Amino acid sequence: MIKVRFAPSPTGYLHIGGARTALFNWMYARAQAGKFVLRIEDTDRQRSRQEFVDEILDSMRWLGLAWDELYYQSERFDVYRQRAQALLEQGKAYKDGDAVILKMPVEEIKIDDLIRGEIVFDTATIKDQVLMKSDGSPTYSFACVVDDAAMEITHVIRGEDHISNTPKQIMIYQALGLKPPKFAHLPLIMGDEGRLSKRTGAVAVSDYRKEGFLPEAIVNYLMLLGWSPGGNQEKVGLACAVKKFSIKKVNKAAAIFSMDKLKWLNGQYIKEMPAGKLTDLIIPFLKEKGYISADFDRERLEKIVDLFKVRMATLTDFLEWADFIFVDKLTVGGETRQQHLSHDRSKEFQLLSERISRLDTFDAASLEKAFRDLVAELGIQASELVHPVRVALTGKTIGPGLFDTMAILGKEKTVQRLQAAFL
Ligand code: GLU
Repeated sequence: MIKVRFAPSPTGYLHIGGARTALFNWMYARAQAGKFVLRIEDTDRQRSRQEFVDEILDSMRWLGLAWDELYYQSERFDVYRQRAQALLEQGKAYKDGDAVILKMPVEEIKIDDLIRGEIVFDTATIKDQVLMKSDGSPTYSFACVVDDAAMEITHVIRGEDHISNTPKQIMIYQALGLKPPKFAHLPLIMGDEGRLSKRTGAVAVSDYRKEGFLPEAIVNYLMLLGWSPGGNQEKVGLACAVKKFSIKKVNKAAAIFSMDKLKWLNGQYIKEMPAGKLTDLIIPFLKEKGYISADFDRERLEKIVDLFKVRMATLTDFLEWADFIFVDKLTVGGETRQQHLSHDRSKEFQLLSERISRLDTFDAASLEKAFRDLVAELGIQASELVHPVRVALTGKTIGPGLFDTMAILGKEKTVQRLQAAFL
C-alpha cells in the first residue's frame, strides 16, 4: 500500500510552501487509495513550540487535509537511541563524546526522482554524519529515516530544498540495512520578484484565513503550484483533482506564486457561494469588528451580502464595501468630500429626503421613481445628484446601484445622512 507523510517542524507556522507539500502528499495518498501520515518533527526542543503545533493541525483541518496517522518525534527518542546503539554495536557508527556519528562510505549515490528523473550525487564531499547529538536528541536526517522506515513510508514527497539531504539519508538507510522509499521533490515556489517573501505571499495559512480567504480557494490555488489538471482548467475542486492527480505530471520548473491570482480565485468561489452560506462565513468577521450584535437581522444581512458578493475577492472585503451600513455615523474622507460634496446641494437633498420619507415601501423601485420625478421637476440631470447622494450615504464613489443601496441602508439612515450632508 502507498503511504506518504507530511513532516512539518513546529518551529514556525504552516506557510504556503508547507501547505502545498501537505496537499500534494494528501492528493497522492487519496489518488492511490493509500495512507497519509502527519508527523510533527519536534526534535528541536528549544525552537519547537506548542503554539505552532496547534496552528499547523488547525490549518490542516481547515484546509480539509485529514490525516490517517499522527506522530510526534518528541515521543520517539527511545527508538532513535536504540537504532543509534545498534549502529554503534555493528561498528558502522562511532562516538564522539556523547554524540553518535555515522561513518560515510565512499560510493556514488543515485536516485530516480519521480519528478526530476535520475539524480547522481557525488558523495566524496559528504562528511561523516551526526546521528545523535551530544544532548541526546537525534539529527533531522536520522530521525527522518528511522521514522520513514518505521512508518512504512513508500513515497517521500517534499520540497526541492531537501534534495541535498537525500544522499545522506540514503546512506543512513543503507547503514540500517533498509530499503529507501521513492523520492519526489517538488519545485520551489517563487514570488513575482524572486524568492517568496512575506509581501509576496509567504505568510501563515492562518493569516490567509484571518484575511478572509476560503479554504477551497487556497487548496485550489496550491494544487496549481507545480501541477495542472490539463486543459487550462483553473477552478478545480479537491475531489476532481484527486481523480486526475499524478506525481509524474508535476513540473520541474519553479512555480510562481501570484497573490493576484489567488485573490481572483477566491473571488470566484465567493461569487458561486449561496448568500446564506457566505453570510455564515462573514458573521464572525462582523462580530469581531463590532458591526453586529447578538440579535442582528439575519434576513437583512443575507440581502446585504448578496448585494456585495460580486465585489468581494475576500470575506474581509465585505467589511470595506459595506461598512457604511453598520456604522451609525459616517465619515466621508476629505478628498472624496471635496470632490463630490463641495457644491452645495442642501436644497435638493432636503427635497429628496422629504419625498422618500413619505414612501410606504422603501424599495429600489419606489426610490428610483421618487428620485427620477424629483430631478425631472428640478430640471437637472440625474447624474448631478447620483454621485453626491452616493457619497453622502456611503462615503464611497462606487458600489452597488444607488437605489438598491438606499433600500438596504433603510429609511432612517438614508434620510438622516441626506439631511446631515451639508451641515
Ligand atoms: N521537518 C522537515 C521540514 O519541515 C521535513 C523534511 C522532509 O519532508 O523530509 O522541512
